[in-house]
Amino acid sequence: MHEIRIAEDLAAIVLETARKERLIKVTKVNISFGQLIQIVPEIFEFAFSEAVRNTISQDAKLSIEIIQVKMKCSECGSEFYLHDNAFNCTNCASSEINIIEGKELFVNSIEGE
Ligand SMILES: [Zn+2]
Repeated sequence: MHEIRIAEDLAAIVLETARKERLIKVTKVNISFGQLIQIVPEIFEFAFSEAVRNTISQDAKLSIEIIQVKMKCSECGSEFYLHDNAFNCTNCASSEINIIEGKELFVNSIEGE
């Protein structure tokens, strides 16, 4: 259940951002998750609503965007998206690949008044 820890971290970031932008109420939080973070959106939403209880974010709507896993082959330089959990290059079949997108986890933007 790492969703709870992630939700608490993100709730803190949202509050910090809201304070800087002098918002009195946060209405929407746009969050981006790499596919590799493997969160369960329903659990995350519940954990987030608990984390922001009694704060200016408590009525905020959550919008979650999942970022696909993108990889780059160190052998031939091809870039490709993860497909069928195959961590091999789609061009040369090498397993010498680096994940370049899909591990991120961040608050994209917040909206408020
Ligand atoms: Zn390759």
